[in-house]
Amino acid sequence: MHTVRLHHSSRLFQVGKIVCVARNYGEHVRELHNRPANEPVFFLKPASSIIRSGETAVIPPYSQNCHHEVELAMLIGKWGRNIREEEAMQHIAGYGVAIDLTLRDVQEQLKAEGLPWDKAKGFDTSCPLSDFMPAAAVADPSALHLTLMVNGELRQSGNSADMIYPPATLISAASRIFALERGDILLTGTPAGVGPVRPGDQVTASIKGVGAVHIRIR
Ligand code: ZN
Repeated sequence: MHTVRLHHSSRLFQVGKIVCVARNYGEHVRELHNRPANEPVFFLKPASSIIRSGETAVIPPYSQNCHHEVELAMLIGKWGRNIREEEAMQHIAGYGVAIDLTLRDVQEQLKAEGLPWDKAKGFDTSCPLSDFMPAAAVADPSALHLTLMVNGELRQSGNSADMIYPPATLISAASRIFALERGDILLTGTPAGVGPVRPGDQVTASIKGVGAVHIRIR
């Protein structure tokens, strides 16, 4: 069982599912030579993929190319289905920082064969997560600066203003497929600058005003 915490609060949330979105920043779509999607493309990570700041992510032996993706994470605070965009923000309990670790070589092979991505995206330790900042403490989730450093070197720098589908649209669209339950987490996609991490690397992902998550790679 995996739980996450809201800052300045004793409230624990038991994590259900982690809903992720592919291709949500134009520059990142282009760097992977993908076509922009005409609706959000969702995939899931299991709750068992979560690690916390200070822990170690382990690259599975079946991959030679694990990529970092810094993402804004949204913690769902109440149940909803077919949520209207105008009401979507009321379902968010807090915001956090995630790293969507992705086995790019495995993913490319699965894509080429038309197979699901789980082996590339859902492996153990593939979802490092910070604690969550209460939603009321985040003035504008569509103006957040995301960065990711590897061994002190800046690799990703982006702003949530550049999302193709903003938070309210993602929640509304996802809730037409999956009921969103208290403790579910939505990852909102990564800006440009994704690249490999290797055993021994120290990785820090931060969002100003939200938090940070620091991991080591093994
Ligand atoms: Zn991602």
